[in-house]
Parts: sequence; C-alpha cells; structure tokens
Amino acid sequence: MSETPELLKCLIIGSGPAAYSAAIYAARADLKPVMIEGPLPGGQLTQTTEVDNYPGYPDGRTGPEMMDDLKRQALRFDTDIRSGWVTKVDFTGPIHKVWVDEKTEIHAHTVIIATGASAKWLGQPNEIRLRDIGGGVSACAVCDGFFYKGQNVAIVGAGDTAAEEASYLAKLCPKVYMLVRRDEFRASKAMEHRVKNMPQIEILYNTEVKDVLGEHAVEGVLVVNNKTGEERMLDVTGLFIAIGHKPATDLFKDWLDMDPQGYLLHDPDRTSTKVPGIFVSGDAADHVYRQAVTSAGTGCMAALDAERYLAAAGID
Ligand code: NDP
Repeated sequence: MSETPELLKCLIIGSGPAAYSAAIYAARADLKPVMIEGPLPGGQLTQTTEVDNYPGYPDGRTGPEMMDDLKRQALRFDTDIRSGWVTKVDFTGPIHKVWVDEKTEIHAHTVIIATGASAKWLGQPNEIRLRDIGGGVSACAVCDGFFYKGQNVAIVGAGDTAAEEASYLAKLCPKVYMLVRRDEFRASKAMEHRVKNMPQIEILYNTEVKDVLGEHAVEGVLVVNNKTGEERMLDVTGLFIAIGHKPATDLFKDWLDMDPQGYLLHDPDRTSTKVPGIFVSGDAADHVYRQAVTSAGTGCMAALDAERYLAAAGID
C-alpha cells in the first residue's frame, strides 16, 4: 500500500548560495521549506578555497566554511534540509511532483530550482589534483585572480568567458598566457579585440595543456602546439580554466524553457517560469554573472516570488 506523498508549500532543490538564501527567506515567511541537497551538498563553493569577494566577510572565508555558515543560518529558521537527489519531476498539474532518489514522491505548491552549474575541466590528472587541493588551478578569475596579483598566470579557452577573465587577470598580473586550442577565437569580435589590445596578454594559438607541474601548487604549465608538436614550459603560478560551464538542468528539459546551453529561462525581472509555482535561481538560470552573491540574490528573489504566488493563490 503506497503512502500519500507529503504536500509542501515550498520545496527547494539544491544547496548552494541560491538555495540557502531561498531557504532563509522562505523559512522566515513561514513557508516551511524543505531543501533537497543534491549530489554535491553545498554546491560549487565547497570546491573552492578562499572566498574574498562575498560581502560581510572582511577577512575572507573558505568556500566550505561559508556554506556551513549559510546552512546554520537556514537551520536556525527551521529549514528542513534533507540529503538526496531529485531524480524526476512532473510539473503538469497545479501541485508539482518531485521524486527523490527515484523512490520518495513529494508534492509541493511551489518549487524553487537552485541546482547550479558546474565548470568544465580539461580532465588532466595534475590539473584536477591541484584544483582539489587549492593549489593554483581555478575556474573563476573574478573569485581567485586576486591571489595571483603580481604573478604570471595562464588561462585556457577562447570564448567570451575566457576573454573576459583574461582581461580581468591582465589588470592584476604582469603576464597572462591565453591558450587557444584552434587558430581563432570563439569570443565575440569586441572581446577578441579587447584581449588583443592588452599588452600583458600573450595569445598562444593551436596550444593545449600537456601537463601542470608542481606538487602542492602550480609551478609551471607544459603546453604543446597541436600543429607542430612543439612543447614549451610556461613559467606561471596559476592556471585558469575557462572552457565553459554546464548548468544542472537536464531534469527539467521536458517542463521548462531553457537557452541552447541549458540555462533555465524565466520571466523578465522575475524568477517565475512558464509553469505557475516554479521559480528558478542561481547559476542554473544565469550564464552571465555566476557569482555567489548574485546567486544568493536570486535565491532571495525566488523565495519572495514564491511567497507572493502562494498568497495570491490563497494557499496558507
Ligand atoms: P564557450 O562555449 O562559448 O567557449 C568555450 C571555449 O573553451 C571555446 O573557445 C572552446 O574552444 C574552448 N574549449 C572547450 N573545451 C576545451 C578544451 N578541452 N581545451 C581547450 N579549450 C577548450 O563558453 P563561455 O563560457 O566562454 O561562454 C558561454 C556562453 O556565455 C556564450 O554564449 C558566451 O557568449 C556567453 N558569455 C557572454 C558574456 C558577455 O556577454 N559578457 C561573458 C561570458 C560568457 P573552441 O572554440 O575550439 O570550441
């Protein structure tokens, strides 16, 4: 005999800054939110070291410490945080259905999606090892560039993100090697032009990373020209990877509109989607800013939108 699924006012999917911020606002508005943490509790920030650009932390905080702070704040207002992975959703009716770990069915009047996105990596063993120990491999120049002030760095990629991040790094670093795997940019002409006009940036075309050197921190990057096979050692202490992100939104493709990269679309100036009661926040719906603080901001917006939706629908 199957049990009747619980019916919630507000279900939050995810556990990054957007999800916690949504939880804090929803809990304080008495929406009794339940949060399903997902496969990487704490989100992308648990994979970073120092976070120095989140307002309110004058001395900085590590990513995991910051997520722990957010979690404790959400718990203080009685957010029901559950481990588990949402494996299926059905947004056909006014009551939204969500399955956790393929077995537990939950019903909710509102769902806030905060599933985030993940950076793509080259997959080179030393790149991943040094990334995991905070040893100078990063996917966010805006977050980590400051730690390399006055030092030489390399950045991989030739899209708008790589061009934007290379320009950012060029303001801090005397030398920025930009490693482009083809003989042309993918970025817009304007961004390409900007990069080419910065004397600190040296563009190496047809160039790929062969190895990242250093035991505890990056001490150099070995690159290879994929046309000539010629190898060269770059004397850098930081390696930035800017080869794209993947939003964690596959689950919603039958229900919500998304752009060609999979980022969720929402109404202008709102977090609402084409499905009443479904709200989106954080990096899953933002390919432009992708910062912890902007993510937290949209999480707050989603909770406020959910609260107003419930009030308008007379759901108490
Ligand atoms: P993109 O997919 O546009 O570009 C990824 C880049 O990384 C490409 O140059 C690609 O090379 C390269 N790349 C991919 N895999 C590898 C690999 N294994 N080794 C080496 N290089 C690799 O991603 P972005 O994050 O740059 O941009 C995503 C979207 O966001 C785009 O639509 C972009 O326009 C937009 N955006 C807009 C901004 C703005 O308007 N200010 C700022 C940032 C992003 P290749 O070209 O050979 O495929």
